[in-house]
Amino acid sequence: MGLLEPDVRYGRVVRVAVSQTLDDLKVAGQRVLLRADLNVPVRDGKVTDLTRLERLVPTIRELSDKGARVIVLSHFDRPKGKIVPELSLRPIAQALGVVLGRPVGFAEDCIGPEAARIVDAMQGGDVAVLENTRFHPGEEENDPAFAKALAQLADIYVNDAFSVSHRAHASTEGVAKLLPSYAGRLMQAELTALEQALGNPARPVAAIVAGSKVSTKLELLTNLVGKVDILVIGGAMANTFLAAQGHDVGKSLQEKDLHATALQILKTAKEKGCDIILPQDVVVAKTFAANVPTEVVGVDAIPADSMALDVGPATVAAFIKRLPEIKTIIWNGPLGAFETKPFDAATNELAEAIAKATDEGKIVSVGGGGDTVSALKLAGVHHRMSYLSSAGGAFLEWMEGKILPGVEVLSAGLSNMG
Ligand code: ADP
Ligand code: MG
Repeated sequence: MGLLEPDVRYGRVVRVAVSQTLDDLKVAGQRVLLRADLNVPVRDGKVTDLTRLERLVPTIRELSDKGARVIVLSHFDRPKGKIVPELSLRPIAQALGVVLGRPVGFAEDCIGPEAARIVDAMQGGDVAVLENTRFHPGEEENDPAFAKALAQLADIYVNDAFSVSHRAHASTEGVAKLLPSYAGRLMQAELTALEQALGNPARPVAAIVAGSKVSTKLELLTNLVGKVDILVIGGAMANTFLAAQGHDVGKSLQEKDLHATALQILKTAKEKGCDIILPQDVVVAKTFAANVPTEVVGVDAIPADSMALDVGPATVAAFIKRLPEIKTIIWNGPLGAFETKPFDAATNELAEAIAKATDEGKIVSVGGGGDTVSALKLAGVHHRMSYLSSAGGAFLEWMEGKILPGVEVLSAGLSNMG
């Protein structure tokens, strides 16, 4: 099961916020400005992880095969509005060519005569990458003049960069107002999967929210208690909840100033009929290092000199026992300090159980978040989830119930363009 076919897997196509997809698009001979996310990890001028580029291939190939001139637009890192030669997209354009198996051109500027020269020379089916949009201050300022300069290069705008669509920048929002705008295949897949998980999910829905801090996920927790039937809280953020309830959490990572907030979330959950599952046991250690001696204790018996670094086996077993009643699972945040063994155990065990239920067609499972993706890759189940979002911040904002400007503008375009 590929990550790009969520609607095939579920046997029904869910209406997403964006109605204009590549299905509706005639592009032969047209100049298509494609906002992609080429912000890939690079070391010594070499791309170290090709995943993001590989996931762009379906959209680029489809546009190119239909005869479009595909002009790829992206930011890279944070040059802060200045030209920083080390942050050029040139090596990434090259890597994209390799992944695509086709030549990919490159323009040394994303607007102006240099960009126009490259675009004018393109034939139908050609692909070219324009230089880093963030070399211009107008990108992050969403300057209308800069957006207009981008729009002048093309006839049609396609956004395939869900991962940057929580930012109202010129290349994600401004330009979409100036050209007929469409969602690319990756954007479409992401929106379809997320709509399925949160918009109109098969119930009961369970969310697993874990990770290090309550403070970074406050809006997420608050939104989810009103939407899901079961909320599992794990990771270090569970310590804050346990401490708020009066448990002594020893030296565990927790946020003392958020006890009242934690209790408020529990109260809201109760009012809304959301069943909260907190750890009943935890894995503790006296020091935080790989393969140190550990102990499993009940949450009432955390020693004063120890810290909880993972949720315990009884907690995981209790949740796994409830899996058969659940139809949809949304997962953000590792259950323990998974980067250090053996504190990856609970995450791995739950990941396997969820992957198995997904394999058997019993649940729809959607995950996302920077560390969550790493943890599920380490657990070896990333291809067995229904959908795993690599969108990081945009995925979290979607889960928080926020409107993403780069997505909203695609739907709004429908009424503007008629
Ligand atoms: P994501 O990036 O998927 O949104 P977070 O950044 O919120 O996830 O959380 C992941 C981090 O939480 C990891 O670095 C992990 O080590 C840490 N973490 C989880 N549980 C614990 C714990 N009990 N003690 C310390 N750190 C923890
Ligand atoms: Mg993180």
